[in-house]
Amino acid sequence: MNLSYWEERHYFEDNDLIVIGAGIVGLSTAIAAKSAKPNLKILVLERSSLPSGASTKNAGFACFGSVTELLSDSQHMSYHDQVALIKMRWEGLQLLQTNVPRVDMSYRSRGGVEVLDTSDSFQMSALDEITRCNTMVADAIGLKDCFSIVDQSLSTTFHNKAIYNQFEGELNPMYMMAALHKKAFNMGINLLYGMEVEAIATRAVKLSDRILNSSLIAVCTNGLSRALLPKLPMQAVRNQVYVTERLDDNPLESCYHYDQGYVYFREIDGRILIGGARNLYPQQETTSEFGQTDNLKQHLQSFVEEKILGKTIKFEYEWSGILGVGEIKTPIIKEVMDDVYVGVRLGGMGVAIGSGVGKSLADMVLS
Ligand SMILES: Cc1cc2nc3c(=O)[nH]c(=O)nc-3n(C[C@H](O)[C@H](O)[C@H](O)COP(=O)(O)OP(=O)(O)OC[C@H]3O[C@@H](n4cnc5c(N)ncnc54)[C@H](O)[C@@H]3O)c2cc1C
Repeated sequence: MNLSYWEERHYFEDNDLIVIGAGIVGLSTAIAAKSAKPNLKILVLERSSLPSGASTKNAGFACFGSVTELLSDSQHMSYHDQVALIKMRWEGLQLLQTNVPRVDMSYRSRGGVEVLDTSDSFQMSALDEITRCNTMVADAIGLKDCFSIVDQSLSTTFHNKAIYNQFEGELNPMYMMAALHKKAFNMGINLLYGMEVEAIATRAVKLSDRILNSSLIAVCTNGLSRALLPKLPMQAVRNQVYVTERLDDNPLESCYHYDQGYVYFREIDGRILIGGARNLYPQQETTSEFGQTDNLKQHLQSFVEEKILGKTIKFEYEWSGILGVGEIKTPIIKEVMDDVYVGVRLGGMGVAIGSGVGKSLADMVLS
């Protein structure tokens, strides 16, 4: 890099905190740290020209768990841990809305619907577990009657009863991230894109052509973290997303979950967005490489055509994003070496927990 004295001084010298990764966690960490200590000099480094993990690639569900997902989790998580996770998701969504007003991220609270497959006994069992899940949500966030059983008329291929979550919302992830970016910039946080960190050590990060020093370092690289910290107990998985052509007769009214949330779909601008199904191709989708595959695309296309619309459609947009997941669903927020902290492993609900993870990480870094 050919840098002037001014550039060198402004961006690279005397940083108190370097944040690696400009996703929802990186920007929330920087914003929370700067809010707590306005005199801190903070630099956010992002490897790509656009944030290229999950925060601008996701489906924009502001959700905290469908009934089949909560039931599945209860098979390997304690009640206490589940309640804590729902609380974390809900509080994260509230914090997000204090950072970004609803109107600025096109937030809509239209609720969410979980559709059920009659031939799947596990999915069908969810109808008998509404009370248990409502108790869990009430214990977590104090809101009663979150889930209710409703008639389902979207498609005869699903059971005629579905589960409605009245507290779910949806948003535009790009608007959310643009608003966070603007907020960070306006607070005086320096943000540089196209800056890949190759290695980290206590008080130093290595770019391709220089080493930057900083008193504190926060690693917010989620699914891509093991390139920097190979021992973190997590792995990268891919989620593919598709958006149909515009439909004259779009039957979707809100956001929808299917099969423990592995498949999700919603209406956007008269189109249907659908994504997920990585559980059907676990080996193929355990990767940090972006990309689309014919098998998964075909599966989601058939899902839209046969289960939702009953007619053929074309996909007009497609992309993928990378998630960080682990054996348990709680994120990793900890110090990994002296003065180097991580806030990673956000799983499939980073829109919900990202702001809270950023705040917790900032608190830990500054303490
Ligand atoms: C397709 C898809 C759909 C999803 N749908 C939803 C949803 O509807 N609701 C929901 O709550 N969650 C959803 N998620 C999950 C959510 O998007 C993520 O959990 C969340 O965005 C993670 O945020 P993050 O800041 O931790 O990571 P990311 O957004 O992945 O940000 C990490 C950033 O670090 C950068 N980076 C990585 N390595 C380096 C390096 N060496 N140097 C510099 N920069 C680096 C990356 O480029 C990236 O921009 C979805 C995820 C995907 C992929």
